[in-house]
Amino acid sequence: MFAPDETLPRLDKTPTDLVLSGKTALVTGSTSGIGLAIAKALSFAGANIVLNGFGDKDQIRNSLQSLTDKDGRATYSPADMSRPDEINDMIMEAKTMFGNVDILINNAGIQHVAPVETFPPSKWDDILAINLSSAFHTSRAVFHDMRENGWGRIINIASAHGLIASPYKSAYVAAKHGIVGLTKVLALEGAEAGITANAICPGYVWTPLVEKQIQDQAEAHGISEDEVISSVLLKNTPTKKFAQPEEIAELCLFLCGAGGNSITGQALPVDGGWTAH
Ligand code: NAD
Repeated sequence: MFAPDETLPRLDKTPTDLVLSGKTALVTGSTSGIGLAIAKALSFAGANIVLNGFGDKDQIRNSLQSLTDKDGRATYSPADMSRPDEINDMIMEAKTMFGNVDILINNAGIQHVAPVETFPPSKWDDILAINLSSAFHTSRAVFHDMRENGWGRIINIASAHGLIASPYKSAYVAAKHGIVGLTKVLALEGAEAGITANAICPGYVWTPLVEKQIQDQAEAHGISEDEVISSVLLKNTPTKKFAQPEEIAELCLFLCGAGGNSITGQALPVDGGWTAH
C-alpha cells in the first residue's frame, strides 16, 4: 500500500515526450502573460487546453491556432471569472468537449493599487471575486471527477504577495494570502485521491501587465522607466531581474508530471529571492 508510485519519472525521457497526452488542462486568464505561457507549455506536453480570458478577438484566435497547429486540441471560453454561473458553464462545456478537467490552473487575476482609506469597495469586491473566489468555484466543480479518476492537479498562480505584503495592495494581498490557504485545504482533501494542489508565488514577471505598470509609474512619478524598474519594482528582488512567464510554465509542467506526485499543499516562490529577506 505504501510502495513508491510505479509512475516515477524515467530520467531517459526527453522533454518532448507527450507526458500529458490524454489529459485536459483548463487555464483561467490564459489570453495573455503567464496564463498563455502555461497553456502553451501544457499543450506542447500533449494536454488538451481550455483557454479563458478577455482580449482582442484576433489575438485570441491566433493563440488558439498556435495551440492546435501541431495536432493539439484546444477550445476557448470567454467566461468571466467574477461570475460563478459562467464558471460552472465553462466547466460543463470543457467536460462535454474533452470528457474531463484533469489539470486546473487558477491564474486569472487583476490588480488595483491605492491606500486602504481610499480603496474603492467595488475594486475590493472584483479582486476578491477574480483572484480568490473563482478558484473556489472552479475547484469545487472539478474536484469530484478528479477524485473519481484518482488523479488531478490544481495549481493556483498566487504571488509573492501570498506570503508577504506591500502597502497599497490591500485587496490583492488579502486575495493572494487567501488562495494560499485554499491551496492547503484542497491538498489535504485530495491527498488520498491522487489530487495535488499547490500555489506558485511569482515575484515580478515580465508580462504586458507589468510593462504597462512601468509606463504608468514613470509618468506618474516623473522618473524614467529604468528608475521605476530599479527603485520601485525590483528594489527588493535580490537577482534584480524579472522572471519570464515561461519559467512559471516550466514549474507547472513539472508539477503536472510524475515528479510532482508528492509535492502538495505548498506555496512555491519563484521570486528571485524576494521572500528570502
Ligand atoms: P495579464 O494581465 O497578462 O493576464 C491576466 C489574465 O487574466 C488575462 O488573460 C485576462 O484576460 C484575464 N482576466 C482578467 N480578468 C478576468 C475575468 N474577470 N475573467 C476571466 N479572465 C480574466 O497578467 P499576468 O501578469 O500574466 O498575471 C497572471 C496571474 O499571475 C495573476 O493572477 C497575477 O496576479 C499573477 N502574478 C503576476 C505577476 C507579475 O509580475 N506579472 C506576479 C505575481 C503574480
